[in-house]
Order: sequence, then structure tokens, then C-alpha cells
Amino acid sequence: TAAIEVAGLRKRFGGTTALDGMTFTVRPGRVTGFAGPNGAGKSTTMRVIVGLDAPDAGTALVGGRPYQSLRRPLTHVGALLDAAALQPGRSARNHLLWLAHSQGLTASRVDEVVAQSGLQGAIRRKAGGYSLGMRQRLGIAAALLGDPPVLMLDEPFNGMDPEGIVWMRGFLRSLAVEGRAVLVSSHLMSELQDTADHLVVIGRGRVIADASVAELTADA
Ligand code: ADP
Ligand code: ADP
Repeated sequence: TAAIEVAGLRKRFGGTTALDGMTFTVRPGRVTGFAGPNGAGKSTTMRVIVGLDAPDAGTALVGGRPYQSLRRPLTHVGALLDAAALQPGRSARNHLLWLAHSQGLTASRVDEVVAQSGLQGAIRRKAGGYSLGMRQRLGIAAALLGDPPVLMLDEPFNGMDPEGIVWMRGFLRSLAVEGRAVLVSSHLMSELQDTADHLVVIGRGRVIADASVAELTADA
């Protein structure tokens, strides 16, 4: 079954059409790249999936159900939507402890996601001093807390240095190998080509290609 299924999403902001019939499916056990230029509708689609934006038409389902109907949504979907809202004066570790606490999770779970996101060396520093790449890792750690089978990451390569980009690729692959569904957006096809199994390419709020990376590269 589909981990995420969006069908016929439409969304306007004033005179701007952000989504114009967005339709695609995300399956478990693979990385689905969500590619398109800035303004194509990647963020809006992801925000609709987790109920942060209401669509004008169409449906978005997670594991066959609307996000709003999930009883414990954070154990279903982990999302990195924009560089996490942080309290700059608190340590990154306190931020995660607070999030874990609010989900009924323990400090040992925090230690696990800190290790997974590669933040061990920096976790006691104040989040206000974090680089964008480190904030991305912190947002990923937060998204992993509930051990969700579905992960949605909006432009996670932004602000990452070359070492971070290599790490991110391997990390995304490892999530898929664990059987998770991973939807990862980028405005740069080059960031997704070597990482994704499947590509959904969008422009102006709609899908223009939806195929395995192998198929898309064979066509080129
Ligand atoms: P992407 O993530 O692919 O860069 P977005 O989903 O952020 O694209 O944006 C799609 C379109 O919707 C763009 O034209 C953008 O300016 C517009 N848009 C997105 N969010 C808002 C908003 N809150 N208010 C007005 N326009 C918006
Ligand atoms: P302390 O600052 O003494 O460690 P808590 O961690 O219990 O206190 O947080 C007190 C309140 O502050 C929480 O109930 C929560 O509403 C808010 N809060 C704490 N951390 C954050 C955070 N990272 N982001 C947003 N709100 C927070």
C-alpha cells in the first residue's frame, strides 16, 4: 500500500496557483525524489500532507488515512519542513528533550536520534549558534524521534557542506533500506539523481514526470 498518496491537489494563494492537480504516490522501502524549480509547489504539497495548509481541492492520505485522523501523527510521519523553530538560547539537546517529553518519549530515545543524525559532538551547544547544515541535522533528529515509517524532508541538502551532502545521501539510503518511505525534495536534480530510487518531477504545481531513476536516465 502507498505510504503517501496525493490526488488532484489544488491550492491557490490569492492570484497564485501553487498546486494545480498534484497527484503522486510514495511507496515504502525507497527514496522518492521530489524535484522541481523554486516555486513549483514542493513545500506546499508537503505542508498539505501534514495538514499545515488546507487544499482547495483534492486529497492527501498517509497510510491510507488523512493526517488529521491519525491518533499519534508523529509516530506515522516525521517531517523536516523548514529549518526547525528553535529557542536559540537553549542547547540542541534540551530542544530534543523537550520534543521527546511532549511525545512521551525518553532521553535515551534522544540519544539514539542524536547519533543517527550525526550531532553527537555538538548537541550540548546552544542551537542559536548552529549553522544551517547543523539545524537541518537537528530537524532530522526531531523528525526521527517517533520512529516514523514515513519521512518527508523539504530541501534537506540546503546549507550542507560537501561532507554533509555525502552524509545526507547515505543517511537517506539507510532509511529506505530500513523499509521506510522517504520523500525528499530538491530544486537541484543533481542532489537527487544519485540518492533517489524514484523521481517525481514537478513544475507549476503539477507532475511532469513520475518514474524510476533508471527509467528517467534511460530516456535521457
Ligand atoms: P517550492 O517549495 O517548490 O519552492 P512552494 O510550494 O513554496 O514551492 O510555492 C509554490 C507557489 O506558491 C509559489 O509561487 C509561492 O510563491 C506560492 N506560495 C507558497 N506559499 C505561499 C503563501 N503562504 N502565501 C502566498 N504564496 C505562497
Ligand atoms: P525549562 O526551560 O526549565 O527546561 P521546560 O523544558 O519544562 O522548562 O519548558 C517549559 C515550557 O516551555 C514547556 O512546557 C513548553 O511549552 C515551552 N518550551 C520549552 N522548550 C521549548 C521549545 N524548544 N520550543 C518551544 N517551546 C518550548
